[in-house]
Amino acid sequence: MSQTGKRTKTRHDDYRGRGVLRELLIPWGVYTRAMSTGTTSPQTIVIVGGVAGGMSAATRLRRINEEATIIVLERGGEVSFANCGLPYHVGGVIPDRGSLVLQKPEQLKRRFNIDVHVRTEVTAINREARTVAARNVLTGDVQEFSYDALVLSPGSTPFRPPIPGVETAHVLWNLDDMDALIAAADGASRAVVVGGGFIGLELAENLVHRGMSTTLLEALPQLMPSLDVEMAWPLVERATHNGLDVRLQSAVTTISPNGVMLSDGTEISADLVVVAVGAKPNTELAVAADLTMGEAGGIRVDEQMRTSDPHIWAVGDAVEKERVDGHTLVPLAGLANRHGRLAADSIMGQPASAKVAYGTSIVGFFGLAAASTGYTERVLVAKGHRPRIIHTHPVSHAGYYPDASQLAMKLLVDPDSDAILGAQVVGDEGVDKRIDVIATAMSAGLTASDLMDLELSYAPQFASAKDPVNMLGYVNDNRRRGEKSVQWHEVSEWMDQGWILVDVRTDGEYSRGAIPGSQLFTLDELRENLDQFQGQRVIVTCRVGQRGHTAASLLAQEGIEVANLDGGYLTWNMGVAATPSSEPAPAH
Ligand SMILES: Cc1cc2nc3c(=O)[nH]c(=O)nc-3n(C[C@H](O)[C@H](O)[C@H](O)COP(=O)(O)OP(=O)(O)OC[C@H]3O[C@@H](n4cnc5c(N)ncnc54)[C@H](O)[C@@H]3O)c2cc1C
Repeated sequence: MSQTGKRTKTRHDDYRGRGVLRELLIPWGVYTRAMSTGTTSPQTIVIVGGVAGGMSAATRLRRINEEATIIVLERGGEVSFANCGLPYHVGGVIPDRGSLVLQKPEQLKRRFNIDVHVRTEVTAINREARTVAARNVLTGDVQEFSYDALVLSPGSTPFRPPIPGVETAHVLWNLDDMDALIAAADGASRAVVVGGGFIGLELAENLVHRGMSTTLLEALPQLMPSLDVEMAWPLVERATHNGLDVRLQSAVTTISPNGVMLSDGTEISADLVVVAVGAKPNTELAVAADLTMGEAGGIRVDEQMRTSDPHIWAVGDAVEKERVDGHTLVPLAGLANRHGRLAADSIMGQPASAKVAYGTSIVGFFGLAAASTGYTERVLVAKGHRPRIIHTHPVSHAGYYPDASQLAMKLLVDPDSDAILGAQVVGDEGVDKRIDVIATAMSAGLTASDLMDLELSYAPQFASAKDPVNMLGYVNDNRRRGEKSVQWHEVSEWMDQGWILVDVRTDGEYSRGAIPGSQLFTLDELRENLDQFQGQRVIVTCRVGQRGHTAASLLAQEGIEVANLDGGYLTWNMGVAATPSSEPAPAH
């Protein structure tokens, strides 16, 4: 029934029996035979949500089955738009708005024979009748669509924290949001972005590109929660270097059209406030239809992306993904696209099985890239693990070839099984390659030691003969064989317990900055001073941990108890800078 009282048309009548040659009735619906495989498949598939997951499902369905009726119902004004590109149009990096819209409904009809209904919001699922009710958001007219299979890909909604005045703030989630944001930014000069996750970072950078004086506020002590605190520090440095004012541990208590107020009473004036503090899955339809929900608040699906109703599949941000040790929300475009395709295969009776999700992601920020996969140290420790932690700082390509830059890498390993639990890479060049190699290794079940043996491409402008990923494997191998290490945040505690700290860098390096309480013995002087360390417990450190490893090997062979500072002075410095209260500042 139409809620507006207008005549309601049932699409089921339009589609059922239209040109279907090999119709077959089986217990849960009317099926056609998929052309490529000869398996049975549903005749009418309705898809809720026409962007990442939904449109991947729709086009894949058509590629497998020419006969099925495929209907996409989308609440917004466009389907198949590039939400990941929105911040870059705000900043003018992507000047043409039209390039963000990848497919128009007319094109989808012509090329794929997909019936797309935009500005059409699905308001209810009737599981018994296998229909959905959909409201035209412009006219209020309600229509009913019958399905044999239903795919839910309704995405998520930006979270608006319960702060007074939050309704005056902008969000950035779709093209309408982007247009409103750009209109507000035109002629404005000061902006505040609340939230230091990947959308907050991308947006803040692009507002700076627009020439706006921008402040980025984050309530946590770090940016990018997908990184550990020390690995996130270069983002703060890069922001500062580019004139973006970053304030950590800054909780907003009030938002108004004139700016924000922080919990410590600080007022920050702004013409424009944008809130980017995460998203919540759009599960209302699924909950109302009594589909099984998971503990993390998303729709629960099996490895074929099928919900608790055998006629309903769900993908994308609204769905919980299987991770190594449980199910959780992983709102990323790659997974939504992959699972949309996988759901289509499953609907068409083709083999399909989702793999464990590692949450592999990357953000670009003023030329810096920060990427991660798997779990962070913070999460692992909270789960009760004691991972082996490895920090390295290799150059992105051979140091002798121009423009090499330094990476910061972190690997988290299960010390018992040698399984890779997570990785993080931050730097200017080659970050994507390294994180993707490690993510692939994890997905293939390779161990951390296997990273040593990966045969990776090399020429001086791209890598080193021992690629940074191989180097992580070597360090892991040393540690697996018993080399002791100490983490940056443990140094002062160990020194309190009587360990001495020996810095084996050069005089020049030491004079530019050193860990308080350390003694300088350059690596080349160490051999002739071994007597001094007998009976002592020694932490050795250098710039990145490599000379420290040589020093540790030497001392250990002399019977001296020794530990190498993991990641050396660079990691210690990042950690201390990121957590000012944890360690004394470097001595100069
Ligand atoms: C600004 C921004 C930048 C991003 N950048 C990246 C990135 O760089 N990398 C990355 O991996 N991920 C990124 N993402 C996340 C990525 O876009 C999402 O994970 C992905 O789009 C989720 O796909 P989905 O199909 O679940 O939802 P969406 O792609 O959001 O599509 C859901 C659609 O469903 C529609 N809908 C919802 N409810 C209904 C209803 N009841 N009836 C009809 N239609 C409905 C919505 O209007 C929406 O268009 C970004 C997201 C944003 C917003």
